[in-house]
Amino acid sequence: MPALYNFMNKKFAAPRGTNDILPDETPLWEDLESKARKICKSYGYHEIRTPIYEETTLFKRSLGQTSDIVNKQLLELATDKEEGYALRPEGTAAVVRSYIENNFDAKEILSKFFYIGPMFRGERPQKGRLRQFHQIGVEAIGSNSASPYLDVEMIALAMHLLNELGVKGLKLKINSLGSKEDKEHISIWLRSEFAKHKKNLCEDCQNRFERNVFRVLDCKKEHCRKVVASIVKHLPMSESSCVYFKTVQGTLKASGIDFEVSPHLVRGLDYYTHTVFEITAEGLGSQDAVGAGGRYSGLVHELGGNEEIDYGAIGFALGIERILLACGYDSTIIPNRIQAFVIAMKEEYQQDAFILLQQLRREDISADMGFSGGSIKSQMNKANNANASFALILGEEEMRNGTVALKDMTASKQEVVLVKDIINVIKSRLKE
Ligand code: ATP
Ligand code: MG
Repeated sequence: MPALYNFMNKKFAAPRGTNDILPDETPLWEDLESKARKICKSYGYHEIRTPIYEETTLFKRSLGQTSDIVNKQLLELATDKEEGYALRPEGTAAVVRSYIENNFDAKEILSKFFYIGPMFRGERPQKGRLRQFHQIGVEAIGSNSASPYLDVEMIALAMHLLNELGVKGLKLKINSLGSKEDKEHISIWLRSEFAKHKKNLCEDCQNRFERNVFRVLDCKKEHCRKVVASIVKHLPMSESSCVYFKTVQGTLKASGIDFEVSPHLVRGLDYYTHTVFEITAEGLGSQDAVGAGGRYSGLVHELGGNEEIDYGAIGFALGIERILLACGYDSTIIPNRIQAFVIAMKEEYQQDAFILLQQLRREDISADMGFSGGSIKSQMNKANNANASFALILGEEEMRNGTVALKDMTASKQEVVLVKDIINVIKSRLKE
C-alpha cells in the first residue's frame, strides 16, 4: 500500500508562514505582553478578547470589497453555507462588532479597548511578513464627536509602547484625509487629476482609480509615485478639517513627539477619515512598518451602529514579530527556571517525592521531578537542565529521619532540613 506508506513517513511541519513560539522564547513574549498591558491600562484602555474567527461578511463590510486583505489575503474556513467564517486578518472589525453588540454606547461616552493576539492573512511569507502574526491593537470608540486630542493620545500611546518595548529608529508619519464630506470632494478632485495621467498609472491603479481613488496615493510602484508626487502636494480639505489637523500637529509638537506630514499616506481601508499614521523602525528592510492606525468613525455605522449617534472611533495596531525583529530579539533565548527539583534516590521513594512536589506547588514554589528515576548523577543533571535553584533529595537516611537534603544548586551548598520545615526554609532561602 504505497499511499499509506507515504503517509506513515510524512514529516509534519508548521504551516507555511506560521511559527511555533517555543518555551525558551515565550518568556520574551510574556515580558513584552505584560509591559504592553501595563502601558495600555495606564492610558485607561482595557483588554478585550474576541474570537479568532468572525463572519466573512463582517470583514468584507469593514475592510471594503476592494481592499487587498479581502481580495487576496482572507483565510476563509470551509463551510457549506454561502457566506461562512474567516480567520481574523485584523482586530478592529471584531472590536466594533462587539462594541455594537454589547451596547457600549448606552453604557459610556467613550469606550477604550486594547487586544493582543494572533491575526491571519494569506500573504506570501517573507522576513517580517507571516500568515499568522501577532498584534497589539488599541481602539477608542465613542458616541461623542471626534476630538483631535484623542488622535494625539493614540499616537502618543503607540510611540510610548514602541519606545518602552525598546524599538530604535522610530519614524512617525501622519496625514489627514479630512472629514467624510471632505473625502467625497477630495475623491472627485483626485479622480479628475488622475484622469489626465491615467495611462501612466499601473494596471492595479487604473482599477483602483475607478473603485477607490485614495489607494492610488499609496501605490509603491515608481511611475505611480511620480504621478502622485506631481499632483498631490497636500489634500484639499475644509477649513474645519485643517484646524483639526493643525491641533493634532500642534499638540504632538507640544508633547515632544517628532513627526513628518506625508500627504500620500492614506492607509488601505475605506473608512479612514481625518488623522492616519504609520510608524516605521530602522533595520527592517522593506517590511519596516511596525504599526499603523487612524480614525475610522464611519465604520461604526457601516457595521450597524445607531444611525442617530455621531460616533467617533480611532485605533492602531502594532506588529509584535516586527517589534521583536527591530529589537534584535527574534533569536533571544531566555532560559526558563524552576525553583525546586525533587529527587527520589530509590524507586520506592517516588510516591513520597511526588507528595512533596505537590506540596511545594500548592505553596507557590515552582517545582518538578524526574519521573523516570535513575541514578543520583542523572537526576542531578535533570535538575541542572531544568535550571533549578534547589534540589530536594530523598535518600535512605532522609526517609528514615523525616528529613530532606536541600542542595543549593548555585552555591553548591547542602543542608538537612525536616520535611515539616522545608517549605519555610525554601521560601526564606529564595528571598536571600
Ligand atoms: P504592510 O504594509 O507591511 O503590509 P499593513 O498595512 O498590511 O502592513 P496593518 O494592517 O496596518 O498592516 O497592520 C498593522 C501592523 O501589523 C503592521 O504595521 C505590521 O507591523 C503588522 N503586520 C501586518 N501584516 C503583517 C504580516 N503579514 N506579518 C507580520 N506582521 C504584519
Ligand atoms: Mg499588508
